[in-house]
Amino acid sequence: MLLELNDLHVSYGAIRALKGVSCQVDEGEIVALIGANGAGKTTTLRTVSGLIRPQAGSINYKGKSIAKLPPHQIVSLGVCQVPEGRRVFTRMTVIENLEMGAYTRNDKNGIKEDLKKIFDRFPRLEERKNQLSGTLSGGEQQMLAMGRALMSRPNVLLMDEPSMGLAPMLVQEIFAIIKEINKTGTTILLVEQNAHMALSISNRAYVLETGEVVLSGPAEDLANNPEVQKAYLGE
Ligand code: ATP
Repeated sequence: MLLELNDLHVSYGAIRALKGVSCQVDEGEIVALIGANGAGKTTTLRTVSGLIRPQAGSINYKGKSIAKLPPHQIVSLGVCQVPEGRRVFTRMTVIENLEMGAYTRNDKNGIKEDLKKIFDRFPRLEERKNQLSGTLSGGEQQMLAMGRALMSRPNVLLMDEPSMGLAPMLVQEIFAIIKEINKTGTTILLVEQNAHMALSISNRAYVLETGEVVLSGPAEDLANNPEVQKAYLGE
């Protein structure tokens, strides 16, 4: 098991956002967390990233606890989040944003190589490399956020709602890229409200409801489950 979340409890004051969430991600998998607004999906990812401290529960990465490490150390270990709403540095250029993604590294040549790889994968970013990121379209900002995360050479990517606010054509493109990134060896934990797309590219999935896992299994089984279809797939 590459990443293991065990019985995580997280509260914001009186609000209990996670009430004992457990989930596992194997090396090489794409695992989706699906669920309605407020189910606790973002909170789960932010807890893994070290941005929120759980009140109880454990998070193990490669068999070692990471629950008490600061976020930058978690990134250095190879676990990197692509936050919701992109959150690129809008007043910095595309290339500056990508360089920021490599802030935990000091291998200049490797960084240069990775920059080239990212421009090969996202030609639109190369065309706009000196443009301020705030002027990019939503889809381009999503690509930049993914590129920025890839600059840390992650072993696991935590992706928060990559399809949010994007036109259907772009959603297809972004999901195809997620699949490609996975094929090159990056494990992915994906949070999505677009359950349809998420299940279509994932190996396994967990359904979260008000801070609890209510269902889990192979993505295909969940996509064929009548309860899931009714609640999350609009069928
Ligand atoms: P969405 O898809 O809308 O982002 P989500 O499944 O990611 O939903 P979370 O954002 O994790 O859900 O929120 C879980 C619960 O925690 C919600 O009830 C939310 O209102 C609450 N919550 C989240 N962040 C905070 C915060 N900073 N302060 C107080 N409550 C919060």
